[in-house]
Amino acid sequence: MKLLFAAAEAFPFVKTGGLADMAHALPKALVKEGVAVETLLPLYRFVDRARFGIEPLGEGLTLEFGGKRFEVALFGCRYEGVRHTFLYEPTLCERDHPYGLGGDYPDNDLRFAIFCHAIAALATRRNADLVHLNDWHTALAALLMRDQGVAARSLFTIHNLAYQGLFEAATLKRCGIAPTHFTMEELEFYGRVNWMKGGIAYADRVTTVSPTYAQEIQTPEFGCGLEGFLRKHAAKLTGILNGIDTDLFDPAADAALPARYRVGAMGGKGRCKAAYLEEAGLKHSGWPLFIFIGRFVEQKGVDWLVEAAPKLAKMPMNLAILGEGEARWHGLLEAAAGCYDNIHLTFGYDEGLSHRMYAAADFLLMPSRFEPCGLNQMIAMRYGALPVAHSVGGLRDTVHETEARCGRGILFDTPDVSALLAAVERALSLYEKRRRYAAWRRFNMACDFSIAQTAKRYADLYRELA
Ligand code: ADP
Repeated sequence: MKLLFAAAEAFPFVKTGGLADMAHALPKALVKEGVAVETLLPLYRFVDRARFGIEPLGEGLTLEFGGKRFEVALFGCRYEGVRHTFLYEPTLCERDHPYGLGGDYPDNDLRFAIFCHAIAALATRRNADLVHLNDWHTALAALLMRDQGVAARSLFTIHNLAYQGLFEAATLKRCGIAPTHFTMEELEFYGRVNWMKGGIAYADRVTTVSPTYAQEIQTPEFGCGLEGFLRKHAAKLTGILNGIDTDLFDPAADAALPARYRVGAMGGKGRCKAAYLEEAGLKHSGWPLFIFIGRFVEQKGVDWLVEAAPKLAKMPMNLAILGEGEARWHGLLEAAAGCYDNIHLTFGYDEGLSHRMYAAADFLLMPSRFEPCGLNQMIAMRYGALPVAHSVGGLRDTVHETEARCGRGILFDTPDVSALLAAVERALSLYEKRRRYAAWRRFNMACDFSIAQTAKRYADLYRELA
């Protein structure tokens, strides 16, 4: 079986969030499942070609649509056993960010249309049996493949329904999409064009990154206006729990850490915490360390965090925040960190620092309003930090407060700040019960959150489809 796996980002070449983690880890795990996979990724100008040995493949694609012609050059490399093919076309790739700095690039429709047309063309050229598409950037490839009579079947994964790829109707012509698709059953969405709808309507199967999220998005609370459309296509929708690359996230072997540790030999974790507290200038070394790592957007509950900060500042805890995102939240978090000596903020994106923080932490705060899957909580559990999380989406599937199922942590149900604060209080009292806290930590570190489980489920689905 020949599989093409297309995504707008993949670690370690380019990463803005969980999509990149999955686009790296799943193909790698699929190779171990015996699936012949080739990833398709844009070769943005900031991708480090020399570091990864990305070389021209000596082949290209000529795409013609919207009255224009686009020459796409193909590049490739092998990384951790996976064959990666990179697509270079200036409109798509000559940027400083995959989607836009401080806002979306206005021509993202054209940019990702080039990507989608190229994916459809490569499906034929590579004689693929299956094309796995991820998020709205690749969604239109499912429609194009159908229109062009491409033999390969398609699977579309929704990583986050909040980002749908919405554009004005004029986008159709410019992106080479037949105007006949502008119907309620296909791309039309309140007078605009919705790319995500195209993926849902045209892919042979649709998945989300956790079982709970697959259910939630069929309700008005989480469906972002697509709940009815998703219910209509429910027969082909499944939730497959995402997982982490346990080679990359391994406290026993992580080169980014000042000390390494494992269950039964936890001394290194104490050293990681001491080193981080020193680095961050957090003085209360006897208090538990809570961390928050993520995008500063409402989805992640960053507004609740801002509102809770004055109360958190009075509790016997340290809070360290790492992230970037909307300027208003950055400003408010910076003000909180400036006021309180037990709150520390690092603004930016820093892979190495994130690893050091997971290793240092006693608890991970994850008050997401909604969470398609969430990887942070799985990474945190592997590094021996207990999640304190809102019980939604993938958090509900991976963290359990009362049952002895895989993944222990503190959950809150009511979506508000007082429920978050009450959960933090529960975490603090758990921390006091040192033996119980240590037992939960050990239990979590031994849990299997690896992407290997996810890959098995996908391999079955591919076989069923192909
Ligand atoms: P998202 O909704 O952003 O995709 P996920 O929980 O699925 O969230 O994945 C987030 C991934 O990005 C995790 O690997 C997390 O550690 C990482 N991450 C998020 N923000 C940062 C940051 N500022 N610096 C380093 N890593 C980050």
